[in-house]
Amino acid sequence: MMQSTDSLAPDNLATANAQSFAVGQVNIVVVGGGSAGWLTAALLAAEHQTDPLITITLIESASVPTIGVGEGTWPSMRATLARIGISETEFLLSCDASFKQGSVFRQWRSADPQDCYYHPFTAPVAANDLDIAEHWFSHHQQVEFAPAVSSQPAVIAAGLAPKRIATPEYAFLQNYGYHLDAGKFVALLSQHAKRLGVKHVVDDVVAVHSHIDGRIAALQTGQQGSLAGDLFVDCSGLQSLIIGRHYQTPLVSVQHCLLNDSALAVQVAYDDEHTPLASATLATAQAQGWVWDIGLPTRRGVGFVHHSGHTNEAQALATLAQYLRLSEQEFSARYQPRLIRFTPGYREQFWRHNCVAVGMAAGFIEPLEASALVMVELSAKFISEQLPRNLSQLAIVAERFNQIFSYRWQQIVEFLKLHYVLSARDDSDYWLAQRAEASIPSSLQEKLLMWHQFVPSRYDLPMAEELFPAASYQYILYGMRHLPRSGRPIKPGSDLRARQAFAEVQQKTQQLRAGLVSNRELLNQIKAHGLQKI
Ligand SMILES: Cc1cc2nc3c(=O)[nH]c(=O)nc-3n(C[C@H](O)[C@H](O)[C@H](O)COP(=O)(O)OP(=O)(O)OC[C@H]3O[C@@H](n4cnc5c(N)ncnc54)[C@H](O)[C@@H]3O)c2cc1C
Repeated sequence: MMQSTDSLAPDNLATANAQSFAVGQVNIVVVGGGSAGWLTAALLAAEHQTDPLITITLIESASVPTIGVGEGTWPSMRATLARIGISETEFLLSCDASFKQGSVFRQWRSADPQDCYYHPFTAPVAANDLDIAEHWFSHHQQVEFAPAVSSQPAVIAAGLAPKRIATPEYAFLQNYGYHLDAGKFVALLSQHAKRLGVKHVVDDVVAVHSHIDGRIAALQTGQQGSLAGDLFVDCSGLQSLIIGRHYQTPLVSVQHCLLNDSALAVQVAYDDEHTPLASATLATAQAQGWVWDIGLPTRRGVGFVHHSGHTNEAQALATLAQYLRLSEQEFSARYQPRLIRFTPGYREQFWRHNCVAVGMAAGFIEPLEASALVMVELSAKFISEQLPRNLSQLAIVAERFNQIFSYRWQQIVEFLKLHYVLSARDDSDYWLAQRAEASIPSSLQEKLLMWHQFVPSRYDLPMAEELFPAASYQYILYGMRHLPRSGRPIKPGSDLRARQAFAEVQQKTQQLRAGLVSNRELLNQIKAHGLQKI
């Protein structure tokens, strides 16, 4: 279907395009109307709406559906929504959204049903003064790492909200992101983006017209002629229309490292509208993969992530039925699960000529830490802040984008792999394969060597805007009980401060337990009164 064509005169187009860049005009065309397309279009529109030289058009197909999953976000989404200018109350109510305060990993260390640890969104106490992990080591037999250094695990365990009704929009008492309905999120974003001036075209892109130098001049649509532009954002999902199919940019597969390539997803109704609402994503390891369980106000989203080489469709159905405590017959009668296949990986380059790929078009790796939407947010922010205004800037910005985002994808691979490498599960070939030494990136092996002695620190993660800072690594490493082999001398004088910090956590936990309502209760209050606008 997709082809490069010279049906438009390349020289004329090149001249016209160079002129528009020369006067600072940038016509941006976003291809794809999923979360990636609308988030990018909305952010660009919000931040450049007063600039008459910038236009934004989003084209999406009526026949290719959006992926329809992607229901867990990071705390970064609060800042993104605020930047776009969406009210948090409107967002929560129209997207069937709830508060997510982190992840709870169950049965990752061993298959014991009691096995559980937390990766909360709030950083360890006293993170700016001292490395609290070093002081926790001597107490590790009495208390788990996360509840010792943060009040958030106790808040999550009690099903409490991260804020009160009087806390203003996007502000918090405990850091949080969201669980949301992906379809409703897209509807809200598109409505808002159109209010900000984004032009919406519903049609299929069927061909790409190129300039002689390889830049894209225009996209040929099925019904509505061609759509010219200066900058094209490929948000076409797994189709990867421009960066993948047109430019033939190879996908860097990471399946040798992270096996999972399939997800079987269902939506699960609550028994009644008062059922408690989890305020973290539950990620429960299985013999052949893991199950996500996300609580929205009106339903749960549940899915089994696995490797097609180890689990066939019938086995995947059986695993999901068992997780939901249903017989296979009951499960089949009640649900029509959706099987999604993907090749875990990312493009060798994301920005080529005047096209940048965002979202699933750029890559996708299993959603173990829900890292896809945050990559969309970071990409949109980068494009908006570094929007090239002439052709000479274009190549520089492209190069920077490629460097930064390649690094970020590698960090995701490394961080997700850590969850498997530290497991002691040996109840299947799957777990042995996930831990095989040859499958561990050398950069992670190096870090693990250092962490036999040292606490993860900024020396391991030197970028200013690391996706996963040292604290995230500490939560996983020590949650999985991977402690340094040899103790290190504690810095003189820091012991008193550490004891104070541990006491602060206990005190704050008590205050929060007494002062916070449940996740569901806060959402009910917001429905009745709304949050205070900022
Ligand atoms: C199983 C699973 C679980 C996930 N869980 C999470 C999670 O918890 N957290 C998270 O952050 N992310 C998650 N993700 C990822 C997340 O769903 C996506 O990153 C996000 O939805 C963005 O998708 P997208 O917009 O890139 O693609 P899509 O939603 O697939 O949108 C593609 C768009 O391109 C359009 N299109 C395609 N072809 C054409 C054409 N020829 N012409 C015009 N338009 C076209 C389509 O119409 C559609 O509008 C998950 C993904 C999967 C598969």
